[in-house]
Amino acid sequence: MDKTYYDPKDLKKFGNISDWNPELGEKFFEYYNAVFAEGKLSAREKSLIALAVSHAIQCPYCIDAYTTDALQRGIEKGEMMASSACKLGLLTEKEKRIMPTAKSLHFRKSNLADPAEQLKYLNNGIFGDGSLPTFQKTLGRTGDFPLRPTELEILQINVGYMCNLVCSHCHVDAGPDRKEIMTRDTMAHILDVLRTTTIDTLDLTGGAPEMNPHFRWFVEEASKIGVRDLIVRSNLTIILANKKFHDLPQFFRQHGVHVVSSLPFYSRERTDKQRGNGVFEKSIQALQMLNEQGYGKPGSGLVLDLVYNPAGAFLPGDQAALEAEYKRRLFEDFGIEFNALFSITNLPISRFLEFLIARDSFEDYMDTLIEAYNPATIGGVMCRNTVSVGYDGTLYDCDFNQMLELKADVPRPHISDFDAEALRKRIIRTSQHCYGCTAGAGSSCQGTTT
Ligand code: SF4
Ligand code: SF4
Repeated sequence: MDKTYYDPKDLKKFGNISDWNPELGEKFFEYYNAVFAEGKLSAREKSLIALAVSHAIQCPYCIDAYTTDALQRGIEKGEMMASSACKLGLLTEKEKRIMPTAKSLHFRKSNLADPAEQLKYLNNGIFGDGSLPTFQKTLGRTGDFPLRPTELEILQINVGYMCNLVCSHCHVDAGPDRKEIMTRDTMAHILDVLRTTTIDTLDLTGGAPEMNPHFRWFVEEASKIGVRDLIVRSNLTIILANKKFHDLPQFFRQHGVHVVSSLPFYSRERTDKQRGNGVFEKSIQALQMLNEQGYGKPGSGLVLDLVYNPAGAFLPGDQAALEAEYKRRLFEDFGIEFNALFSITNLPISRFLEFLIARDSFEDYMDTLIEAYNPATIGGVMCRNTVSVGYDGTLYDCDFNQMLELKADVPRPHISDFDAEALRKRIIRTSQHCYGCTAGAGSSCQGTTT
């Protein structure tokens, strides 16, 4: 067939379509330019959508035009391929496994990316009109308001929001598109604090902390100081994400790192639903690699703990029962051993808050948390003995307050001005998200608190 509908030369004549009717042509281009202008979606995102639609309707002129447009905007060929293939369902199984299934709130420019917007949900509506009691009021009833710290034992460090995964319930709103990373300078301030105080636990989190380019240096320096418990919260899949991470299990062993890894469930379906396709399989492989180094094995002294969090708007089950079930299933199905299971409640912030709002279940979830309020949990909530350090060195009462940008209530809440005495005297800042820590058996980064 030497004559086809599509002739690339015709595309060049597109700008002349107004020749025979300038008035209509002008209106068309005005509309066209407005559609593709920067707005809730960026011009770049719109270009990718247009390319995907072009493939869906199989229009060669549109495919040609939007491919050129995407290239001019600096969109990479891989992104163009992924966008088009997504729409057409043409991704291979391997591509589906490596493609993130979601994007961060920040990437999507969701209003919930702004902590002030999240606080509006937490402070207004059912709490603003008195339908449900505020956390402060509830604390007051048991004589626990204001909440004050005990001895400072743990520094929890968020070394950056970058992550290879985009889990649906992530309270950090982490993902590959987040670029906030802790500098070596800020890490040096943290090491100084460890050298000069009695804090004996360093808890590194992210994002995927291993993606910070200074991560290994930081771990090496902290281990030289002799921190009693050096925790790294690893999402496991990072170990297999790239060749440069394959030796992480050996690196962890060499520095006596205590590995804490979230594994939403012991079955493929539930884990992949929450964390993305293929995550379960990679997590299992990574756990086997850690076991090979001695992690989780009796008598090795190498601690491997797992973290469970519910898949939806409900409280976690009994931690001891879940741990027994995880141990049985992971050993029987994959020969995997680990030390303890931490069961953690989802707090109504960030992407989990979005999940609740989208399902119209925010009010019901808050009601569930409040119904389950247990004053016995107050002694063990993590803000009592922990200070959280943000990627830029800012100090917070906990990782959740960090995400809501509620800074520690001290005159200079920054690691470079670390003042243990001021921190000891501070009042912990609370809001309605705190109900997530005090429901049922309680919830902290070490699991239940009672
Ligand atoms: S692995 Fe952790 S930090 Fe990364 S997206 Fe999932 S929950 Fe968030
Ligand atoms: S959310 Fe933070 S401040 Fe609130 S109770 Fe939990 S640990 Fe404490």
